[in-house]
Amino acid sequence: MAAMKVRVRFAPSPTGFLHIGGARTALFNWLYARHTGGTFILRIEDTDAARNTQQAVEVILQGLRWLGLYWDEGPLTSDATGPYKGERGPYFQSQRREFYQRRVEALLARGLAYEHEGAVKFRMPREPITIHDLVVGEVVRKLTDREELDPDFVIQRSDGQPVFHLTNVVDDLEMGITHVIRGEDHLSNTAKHIALFRAFGVEPPKYAHIPLILNPDGTKMSKRDRGASLTTYMEEGFLPEALVNYLCLLGWSPKDNREKIPLAEVIERFDLSQILRHNARFDFEKLLWLQGEYCRELPDDRFYELSVHALAKAGIDTNRFDLRYVKAALDTCKGKIKVFSELPAYGGFYFRDDITYDPEAAKQHFTPENKPRLQKLRDAFARAEPFDAPTLEATLKATAAELGVKPAVLVHPVRLACTGRTAGPSLYHLMEVLGREKTLQRLDRALATF
Ligand code: GLU
Repeated sequence: MAAMKVRVRFAPSPTGFLHIGGARTALFNWLYARHTGGTFILRIEDTDAARNTQQAVEVILQGLRWLGLYWDEGPLTSDATGPYKGERGPYFQSQRREFYQRRVEALLARGLAYEHEGAVKFRMPREPITIHDLVVGEVVRKLTDREELDPDFVIQRSDGQPVFHLTNVVDDLEMGITHVIRGEDHLSNTAKHIALFRAFGVEPPKYAHIPLILNPDGTKMSKRDRGASLTTYMEEGFLPEALVNYLCLLGWSPKDNREKIPLAEVIERFDLSQILRHNARFDFEKLLWLQGEYCRELPDDRFYELSVHALAKAGIDTNRFDLRYVKAALDTCKGKIKVFSELPAYGGFYFRDDITYDPEAAKQHFTPENKPRLQKLRDAFARAEPFDAPTLEATLKATAAELGVKPAVLVHPVRLACTGRTAGPSLYHLMEVLGREKTLQRLDRALATF
């Protein structure tokens, strides 16, 4: 018998926000589709017209595109000229009203639903329903005491609006979804969904409810918590490949303790049976570590592109500089910063002359004692030939020896004069990149302040 072709979906409601847990749900669906050669569908559950805006949908689309989680199916986009022309889908529930209407009528006709104060209610079976969840295991749902009084639930409101349980099930049915992979918060809805599938005369799909993502302290991660929104990572200059790698590990494990895993290998190995049952704690340190690893390995061109973008966002226009200068400057930052949002502070000094000095460090290093020393070093740098890192290092060390001080006594004020800060790229290399003229200008400018 031919194996059933896998069809999975990510079905977010557009709230204006893509939660990191939602991103992980999308990823696990996508991984399962790629692993099985199946189809990954994006379905926007936007029946609550009051809350839906085009902008809220864009947040989801941009987030998934950024992560590289492209959906495989759907109507051709109507925007024939936009940057995503030719892209398929997503499906919008708001455009599928007739499917829900038809199904409500079918249930009414068969006495499986009934009208009640203008709304339509579904006749929920009274006997327990067993869920065979691929992650959670077997769960038997009995009616609660409260439900026992009235287990039936509304599927269409009195204003004609179909309700979540109905639209969710009708679409999973119409779209031939084989596996519902979603957050564990939906486990409590699943008995209702199974009952609806049976009322429509079809077997429900397989369910895999994935554990929630918790804060590092074990509390449930809500919308307001640090790191809960995907947009934060996009804006902070994280690499999507680092975040995807991290999200793979949030509830799944390759079983050999490895943490940095190529996506192609995750696709090859990913299976629903390996999803961990316990809730996953968000570990920022691990994410940062992965980010640093991926950042270090970036091809130069992509590193330059992302750097220029991060600097531009901070108001630093690198276009005003020679391309070779920009690249040389950025080369001294590669492997040193983890997240691109650190770059303006780390390497911004290359692109502005109005250096502001860290006040604490200035107090410590721009001292009357240091002034003649720095002056002497400035004059030695003026004669250094060639003006490159090894010569500058030798020059600084020779000057320190002549002055009878440790090199560090000179290193700190020079760095402060050139960059405004006490930490940054290798001092001799950054001076080489700045060049003789700028380096001397900055030393003179600093010398004039104390
Ligand atoms: N719209 C629901 C949500 O965002 C989808 C639930 C499901 O995946 O079935 O939570």
